[in-house]
Amino acid sequence: MTIKIHNTLTGKLDEFKSIQPEKVSLYTCGPTVYDYPHIGNWAAYIYWDVLVRILTINGYDVKRVMNITDVGHLVSDADEGEDKLEKGARREGKTAWKVAKFYTDVFLDGMKKLNLIEPSVITKATEYIPQQLDLVRQLKTKGVTYQIDDGIYFDTSKFASYADFAHLNLEELKAGARVEYNQQKRNPSDFALWKFTPEGEKRDMEWPTPTDLTSDGKERMGFPGWHIECSAMALSELGKTIDIHTGGIDHIPVHHTNEIAQSETANGVRFSNYWMHNNFLKVDGRKFSKSLGNGYTLDDLKKQGFTPLDFRMFLLQTHYRSEGNFTFDNLQSAHNRLHNWRNIAILRHQIHDTVTSDKERNDDEKTLSLYATSQAIIEAINNDLNTPEALSIIDEAFTKLQNTRLENINANALNQLLDTIDQTLGLELINNTPDISDESKQLIIKRNLARQNKDWNLSDKLRDELLDIGITLLDNQIGTIWQYTDK
Ligand SMILES: [Zn+2]
Repeated sequence: MTIKIHNTLTGKLDEFKSIQPEKVSLYTCGPTVYDYPHIGNWAAYIYWDVLVRILTINGYDVKRVMNITDVGHLVSDADEGEDKLEKGARREGKTAWKVAKFYTDVFLDGMKKLNLIEPSVITKATEYIPQQLDLVRQLKTKGVTYQIDDGIYFDTSKFASYADFAHLNLEELKAGARVEYNQQKRNPSDFALWKFTPEGEKRDMEWPTPTDLTSDGKERMGFPGWHIECSAMALSELGKTIDIHTGGIDHIPVHHTNEIAQSETANGVRFSNYWMHNNFLKVDGRKFSKSLGNGYTLDDLKKQGFTPLDFRMFLLQTHYRSEGNFTFDNLQSAHNRLHNWRNIAILRHQIHDTVTSDKERNDDEKTLSLYATSQAIIEAINNDLNTPEALSIIDEAFTKLQNTRLENINANALNQLLDTIDQTLGLELINNTPDISDESKQLIIKRNLARQNKDWNLSDKLRDELLDIGITLLDNQIGTIWQYTDK
């Protein structure tokens, strides 16, 4: 099967071809661990999780590296301002190391709650300092670095294709830069590879600057720039050229442009063959901002009665390259859709109760359509992760199922369909729809018997008893079925 990816590098939909047969190397720019991630931060990781899943389903062995930025990400992406980690430390009265550890754990815990597949390797920037310094050394040897008062910088004018990836207009950038940037820099787009700890200061996170890297051989403490971290970790774990690199669209003009400049200058080969970027998620049509107080976390959703999987469903309704809009109404719709899907998933327990074997059913057509649905879901996601399309394919099949008599549904085909949905979209339909207990089933049988005998009092009493334990009975055109009661 063919996977198509909208590649930022070429600006078009490209057929995916891996460097090595059946293997994919994938690098995801990870979180900066200085605060609770909000739902806008999570969006990217949910989309890239679907990417990993679809590559795996297509038979690829995926080696995925995700970094944890635990040092060197400054408040402004233009190498100015405070380190976000040191700022977090000041806010919380802890060391930067403690802040990093705490929010790394928060992040990893959130990944589990959202049912995100753990990357093959999680790299912490602070654990790759020698590799980062090595890369700076290589760049120095190539003559593309220079030193100013506050650090060692990359001279972007020495990388001829610097403007290409993000279609930057460097002249305009220069004209617009004015006071914004450090005037010692040769070009406004030049960026720090390694920053020096300001004289007389002591940072929580700092390392000796090797004197062969400086122009004056003076001993100074320092810390890495955010961009060099990703280049060094990708190189260490995945090699000089990787298959796919992912991140948010905000990374295109600075962070990823700089990663490319460093990696390609040092290694002399293309850094990544495919680049995928997710669009922003807005809240009530507005950007996330501290002052609006709309940076909802997974805990905030929980307080409103929503699960991480409700949010996952909400997000998958929008294509990763489209701008999303979060509202609690939209989240409620996603919750309802997921609840509805779970009630379809439990039909698989009820089919076995009434039918002894698949062969007894006259259901060739239905079987065929359910197997074809599994295939159609995979094809939709193969096409540049078209999750909204996959969701409507599932809705259509489920609507048909809701109108099919139980004895006409093929259990194997339904199980396979549910398995495909879980594997591709990670919604945990199977795990979250266990069968009801034998006691409950006995109650249902008794209630149906009472109904047949027209003993309405007893029938109603048993129905209420079932409601109390979270089971709703429906008598409709497909038979009497039970469902979970939505809380
Ligand atoms: Zn990165």
